[in-house]
Amino acid sequence: MEPGYPGPERRSKRHHVVYDFAMTTAAARAERRRRIFARDGHRCVYCARVLPEDQLSLDHVEPRRKGGDHSEGNLVTACRACNRAKGGRPAWAYLAAEDDARATFLRYARWIWPRHRRAVEEAARGAANDRHDDPAAGDRRP
Ligand SMILES: [Zn+2]
Repeated sequence: MEPGYPGPERRSKRHHVVYDFAMTTAAARAERRRRIFARDGHRCVYCARVLPEDQLSLDHVEPRRKGGDHSEGNLVTACRACNRAKGGRPAWAYLAAEDDARATFLRYARWIWPRHRRAVEEAARGAANDRHDDPAAGDRRP
């Protein structure tokens, strides 16, 4: 045992707290999954298929690694195949060259943040690259 490591009593209490926290988090996450799936009618927003819960996944429109959060405006229902195809990319990067999936997404992902929606539309027009850096980008919109 390393010096300073909690003794058995403290450790079990600590373990308990960690366990409770994990349960709360897991329960909250399961709740959120069900809520998002229900909100989206159990329909994958990328391919429009309606599927049972065990074939669905929760997709971050803007991935966590790229700064996306767990808010419901950043979460959509996606089937496992579409989620895999999208990979770690933001939805707008995945959808820029996928016309059918983009049309489906814009039709069914009704609850996402408006800025995400705009990003998908802009990426399709090839304006995604300088969107964040160039304040004049908006002036060049068609
Ligand atoms: Zn799908």
